[in-house]
Amino acid sequence: MSSEPAPEDALLFWPRERVRALQDRLLRETIALCWEGHPYYGRLLRECSLTPADFQTTADLVKLPITTKHQFLADPEAFRLRMPAGAPLEAQVLWEVMYTTGTTSGQPAPIYTTTWDHYTYLVHARRCATILGLSERDVVANVFPLAPFPLGAYVRSAHQAAAAGAAIITINPGRPSPHFPVHRSLDDAVRLVAVHRATLIWGIASFVRRLLLRARELGADFSSLRGVSVTGEAVSPALREELRRLLRELGSQEAVVLNRYGSTEMGSMLECVPGSGWHNPSPDQFFYEVVDPERGMRLGNGEVGLLLATHLQRRGTVLLRYAIGDLVALTEEVCPHCGRTSERVISQPVRTKELVKIKGTLVNLEALREALEGVPALEEYQIVVQKSDPADPFSLDELLLRLAAPPEQQEAVAAAVSARTLALTHLRPRVEFVPRDVLFDPAVNVKAQRILDRRPPTE
Ligand SMILES: [Zn+2]
Repeated sequence: MSSEPAPEDALLFWPRERVRALQDRLLRETIALCWEGHPYYGRLLRECSLTPADFQTTADLVKLPITTKHQFLADPEAFRLRMPAGAPLEAQVLWEVMYTTGTTSGQPAPIYTTTWDHYTYLVHARRCATILGLSERDVVANVFPLAPFPLGAYVRSAHQAAAAGAAIITINPGRPSPHFPVHRSLDDAVRLVAVHRATLIWGIASFVRRLLLRARELGADFSSLRGVSVTGEAVSPALREELRRLLRELGSQEAVVLNRYGSTEMGSMLECVPGSGWHNPSPDQFFYEVVDPERGMRLGNGEVGLLLATHLQRRGTVLLRYAIGDLVALTEEVCPHCGRTSERVISQPVRTKELVKIKGTLVNLEALREALEGVPALEEYQIVVQKSDPADPFSLDELLLRLAAPPEQQEAVAAAVSARTLALTHLRPRVEFVPRDVLFDPAVNVKAQRILDRRPPTE
């Protein structure tokens, strides 16, 4: 470690008890505001016969029922805090609205951000910059999609760069609008990264990977790149290694692959070094806990359960005990790499919706993804769960793997993929080969759809 941390970073090194005392005070403030002016939690507290006096410390949060993503998406307006008259102007003014991507319904939900929330984000972003080593000398290429609704990662890239004093260029890839010619192609993205001598690329993992592959095909000069920062999808060690290899082949000296974990609702958690686990950079803004997904009781260090996030300083959209839908393990042990005391997520997050039953067997599709990402010569893939007879909802489940690979290598790829799938899931997949753009066309989508469950929903 270098010298003293900046003032806003000091709390990341505090003893846990001191952090806890700060979190307790901020929680009391948040609960009091929710009691007065939060439609959803004001009602929930009263329904549960709870009052603000019942919440003295973060340990008391277990009294409050969990909020699921489904509940938030069903009525996002009910999660917007109404501030009392006389509150600071920053806490009353709407700064911006971002959207969180919906679940299977596809309907995005607004996240209201007041000036107060924006400022807290800038503090959070400064801390992130310190952990990531982002500086005034960096030139960031934002390749997050220009989507029909402002995505958190897209909007916040500019804020993150601003907080660090870095330069940023916004590429605007994505599905072309039928009304306005404002989106850029993959080749344009390659050209702009080279023209601006970007030092970092920020984007969704599958898109960044394709961007690097295309840069290699075009012989682009990417030697200015220090690395990439990816989010939005689980990044397996194999994918991380492949991104690093591509960066090196493109002339990047450092070839850093930063893997963020987070969401629009929660903000991001970061690794200080690869494999350190994801730190909570702002324990004064987010309280995290892990609970047993079946029975709801709080779990301890290193135990895998449902991750819940509680906002401690927000004044727009406020969420308490919010389950994003990931299974993780948290630890409060001091990080052996950087000495920070803030808690870390120390297991690869698993989306609960990616634990599915196929032919009656519980299969971790996320683990299958990881296994496939290490297969040599596999260019793209998609895991499909469907009925063997689409017309018959009662026919057997089928695991279909749609793959893209060079023709001369398809036989070897199919054998390797089948063997890995069988070992991991005890299911024998059906394999089919298709052109790589059928599985993921960056001109149409900015994110590869790696897992597709086509079975009719069951209630
Ligand atoms: Zn660390």
